[in-house]
Amino acid sequence: MGMVIVFANQKGGVGKTTTAVSLGSAVAETGSSVLLVDFDPQGNLSSNVSADRKKPGIYQVLSGEHSAEEVVQSTPQEGLSVIAGGADLTGASVELVQEDNREYFLRNALEPVRDQYDFIFIDSPPSLGILTVNALIAADHVIVPLQCEYFALEGLTQLMQSIRRIQRTGNNKLNIFGIVLTMYDSRINLANEVIRDVSKHFGRLIFRTLIPRNVRLSEAPSHSIPINLYDPSSIGAKSYAKLAQEVLTRAKEHTSR
Ligand code: ATP
Ligand code: MG
Repeated sequence: MGMVIVFANQKGGVGKTTTAVSLGSAVAETGSSVLLVDFDPQGNLSSNVSADRKKPGIYQVLSGEHSAEEVVQSTPQEGLSVIAGGADLTGASVELVQEDNREYFLRNALEPVRDQYDFIFIDSPPSLGILTVNALIAADHVIVPLQCEYFALEGLTQLMQSIRRIQRTGNNKLNIFGIVLTMYDSRINLANEVIRDVSKHFGRLIFRTLIPRNVRLSEAPSHSIPINLYDPSSIGAKSYAKLAQEVLTRAKEHTSR
């Protein structure tokens, strides 16, 4: 049974897409099959893995024009596939509001491919709107990328409230899989303070692997390939490979429960 993980944080630019792509690719390198789903109108994830956004994507699955299987594209990374997303999702967020069952569209759309992959990683937009709610209901687990900066904790409280509401109303199986600290810079005192604060509140939820700020990670998207193909020796690639090991260990613990 495939494990569906959504990357969510309503705050923009915290590393959701970078983590979905880099971790997805690192997990695929270990031999697991991974399907990335771009559920953000910005379409960043699609371009980061060379997906063709002119081809049908997740919007065409939501609207019933295509099945999920029909819109899967390959990526430069072996074992890593993608369903593209992009601007038409803005329309979806308006259309969905008028539908019954509006929060279950993505869950239903992905149902037929759930068992075909070891992992499905969903990238979500920087809001707590209908698209993110759909993603949280489609998922078994949520990973929260958190940038080590001032106010990080404040936004996190709001996100946790939304997750708890969804656990009560739409998806009682939704589990907070972990919090990954991104763009970490040890030279900035504040970053260490944030880590102390977040650790106090969320303890074991925090992955031990910190993702450092690394210029190679910010360059890889312009080459449309994941970091482990762009520069496997970079600290960014190595950090995501390490995070992948942690994620695989947690996933194993979870399925053996
Ligand atoms: P949005 O909310 O807009 O979808 P996001 O949460 O998906 O943003 P990303 O797009 O992953 O965030 O990252 C924001 C920017 O920071 C991007 O330009 C990305 O290349 C860069 N970036 C992400 N992680 C790192 C890192 N560890 N080191 C350096 N740059 C990074
Ligand atoms: Mg993004």
